[in-house]
Amino acid sequence: MSDKPQAYAPGVYGLVGGAVNVYILDDADSGVTIIDAGLPLAAGRVLGLIRDIGRKPEDVKHILITHADVDHVGSLKPLVDATGADVVASAESETFIRRRSNPPHIALPMSLLSRAVSLVFRRAVPVNRIVAGSDVLDIAGGIRVIATPGHTPDHVSYFWERERVLFSGDLLNNTDGLRLTPPRITWSMAAAHDSARKVLALNPAVICAGHGDVWLAEKEPERIEALLASLPDDGEAS
Ligand SMILES: [Zn+2]
Repeated sequence: MSDKPQAYAPGVYGLVGGAVNVYILDDADSGVTIIDAGLPLAAGRVLGLIRDIGRKPEDVKHILITHADVDHVGSLKPLVDATGADVVASAESETFIRRRSNPPHIALPMSLLSRAVSLVFRRAVPVNRIVAGSDVLDIAGGIRVIATPGHTPDHVSYFWERERVLFSGDLLNNTDGLRLTPPRITWSMAAAHDSARKVLALNPAVICAGHGDVWLAEKEPERIEALLASLPDDGEAS
């Protein structure tokens, strides 16, 4: 008896505000796309959201991965099994997905915990399409891939050009205002600053971050400029 889920942009829905966010993009022509695959044991909730918008698991054609942390790929295998969707990820993420390991960016003992959780719950999944920065996916009129290393070395973001929706993964979070993911869980802050400059220059209308609320430009139009102005000019990555 639930109402239709909230749309953050046309066709964009999410499991938002829990430990980690999972998004879906529903497009009449290209079907359903899942962006990031959540923690282990989350597939049922993702599939529930898909049913709540009137779609079936078989309608899911693509699963886009921003990076291979266990909270973003934990339910990738059961989601692939349930939907038959193609998996899209960077070459670096593909390695971690195949090895069921996490990219380097967190210190002991948390890194050991995520390693253990990964070995217990994750299964290797073939990546069907390897992407790199400036690729444009033929989904919903065009989703641009942006290489955004920083939080992790393998990180990419996805920008849906028609509605200017940025799926930022963990480059940005919005748990307590829109900002960069904190240094203690960041592989390279210099790279993260460079990556943030790249995505913010796209002037997104909606930012679907990996953690926290969805950010809407219409509610906080000055935030992008302020965030850009706050970034130190220490970037070395290209
Ligand atoms: Zn992460």
